[in-house]
Amino acid sequence: MSSYTVINPATTEAVTDVHLASVEETDAAVEAAHAAFVGGWRDLAPGERATLLRRFASVVDAHVEELAEIEVRNAGHTWGNARWEAGNVRDCLNYYSAAPERLFGRQIPVPGGVDVTFREPLGVVGVIVPWNFPMPIAGWGFAPALAAGNTVVLKPAELTPLTAIRLGELALEAGLPEHVLTVIPGKGSVVGERFVTHPLVRKIVFTGSTAVGKRIMAGCADQVKRVTLELGGKSSNIVFADADIDAAAASAPYAVFDNAGQDCCARSRILVQRSAYDEFLSKLEPAVTGMRVLDPTDESSEMGPLISAQQLGTVRGYLDEADVAFEGSTPGGPGFWVPPSVVTTEDPQARIWREEVFGPVVAVMPFDDEAEAVALANDTEYGLSGSIFTRDLGRGLRVARAVESGNLSVNSHSAVRYWTPFGGYKQSGLGRELGPDATSAFTEEKNVFIAH
Ligand code: NAD
Repeated sequence: MSSYTVINPATTEAVTDVHLASVEETDAAVEAAHAAFVGGWRDLAPGERATLLRRFASVVDAHVEELAEIEVRNAGHTWGNARWEAGNVRDCLNYYSAAPERLFGRQIPVPGGVDVTFREPLGVVGVIVPWNFPMPIAGWGFAPALAAGNTVVLKPAELTPLTAIRLGELALEAGLPEHVLTVIPGKGSVVGERFVTHPLVRKIVFTGSTAVGKRIMAGCADQVKRVTLELGGKSSNIVFADADIDAAAASAPYAVFDNAGQDCCARSRILVQRSAYDEFLSKLEPAVTGMRVLDPTDESSEMGPLISAQQLGTVRGYLDEADVAFEGSTPGGPGFWVPPSVVTTEDPQARIWREEVFGPVVAVMPFDDEAEAVALANDTEYGLSGSIFTRDLGRGLRVARAVESGNLSVNSHSAVRYWTPFGGYKQSGLGRELGPDATSAFTEEKNVFIAH
């Protein structure tokens, strides 16, 4: 029997041991999920499915503090983030609880009869979750999948399984039938790969690194399995000289250092128009050094540690070869701490400019005009997010349209909302999650012709 010791990244102390499922246990869970699909969940009256999802949301709501406390310990998230994340699962469930009663088909004019379409659920959906946002990313997969009438098997990341395990228990407490949502902690190479190869898993929702995503996409090809991929990013925050530089500099740290930079949407590049470059850096410095990097059990902490010793080594490797212009602080001690760090560069080939660091490191580069800013922002294999700061609304829209990314914000550091579609261009992913159409990705459109 294999197990994994979960570590608190702020202290390096062991939290608990979690059993890692085998291939045989995964097969049994997938078969049970399939039986729950054909034996009930698929055929439940839409209103009943909606009621159960709303009940699940209210049980999550009653456990926000408990879930947040687990995430603070397991992932080193700040209290503010962890509460938001648990609340996001609740909100997503409430949002998609409206979907079962609105899975509309169409009536299409054809000669010789009528043609109607139905939105049919797929079956068992396999959701594979990374360690950086264990709760929201799980919810973005399971809430619309369940609403559309699928059952779900969910594999959390090895490093951060605890909130997912608790959410699985809360689903049962809320009255969801057994095996409708099954959380299976385990290794990617065992449980995750089995989701890909098991013929009863009809869709994979994968969020994680681009390298593993490519492998999953290739694996899914074997059974022409549906797949949504949410992968890495190297996004730009573009600051024009006409922007409110105070506001742009004050918000920039939160656009990249949130969750200690372990955020696929992190704006880890800042492009600043040359005439405002010095002013911007002089205002960015106090915003960075003023960040409260503290043990996440301190309610006022704004940034916690990295997730693991391995991640710490990777991030330090990038910093060792870069010019750090200034950095914030850390509380020190045994946790996996890196201060929020600002690097300046004018080399678009530098590793720190091109690769996803996934830590609290941002690279700043000057540009001369709008065309150059767009070209530099698009000079990457990724395309997940980005921001534009300008007082010129026309330019804000023009640049947002020109940047090849799925999620852009103008004069704001975030574009992720459960009401709106989320996903990447290029190697940042395939397909969209969230937003009003998310359940479409968990159904097949079936067309039925009836002769008259
Ligand atoms: P990862 O790719 O190493 O792992 C992600 C998940 O896949 C884990 O659960 C892991 O166990 C599993 N896995 C690993 N190998 C597998 C395999 N062969 N088959 C099936 N499953 C396998 O990623 P990570 O290090 O956990 O997360 C960080 C990455 O995730 C970053 O690149 C980040 O940008 C990306 N990410 C993207 C989004 C997004 O929405 N686009 C959101 C969060 C994180």
